[in-house]
Amino acid sequence: MTVIKLPTVPTDEGRRRYADTDGYYPDRSLHTRSPDIYSPCTCVAGCAPRCGGKCHCTACGLDFKVYCDVARLLTPDGLKVSEEDAVARYREEAPIQTAYVGR
Ligand SMILES: [Zn+2]
Ligand SMILES: [Zn+2]
Repeated sequence: MTVIKLPTVPTDEGRRRYADTDGYYPDRSLHTRSPDIYSPCTCVAGCAPRCGGKCHCTACGLDFKVYCDVARLLTPDGLKVSEEDAVARYREEAPIQTAYVGR
């Protein structure tokens, strides 16, 4: 059996994307922009801007989820729209509402 080691440190690309929090998603529970060490950005250089966690990046996946929640696309039954639609909206209009500033 293969043991999959979860990445616990951000990649260089992650540090670039979440520069304010050293490559980690900001911990919203603290009302500050301190890093959430359980949510590193593990995007690679070729990863799409605002990838939404398609590359299994924890930070960007979380940012996408937060967007869906804030945009009221998320219901107890799941997404109200198709995931492609949600990702498209996220890429277009999220910068103000979520942590990822798209540098
Ligand atoms: Zn990422
Ligand atoms: Zn990514």
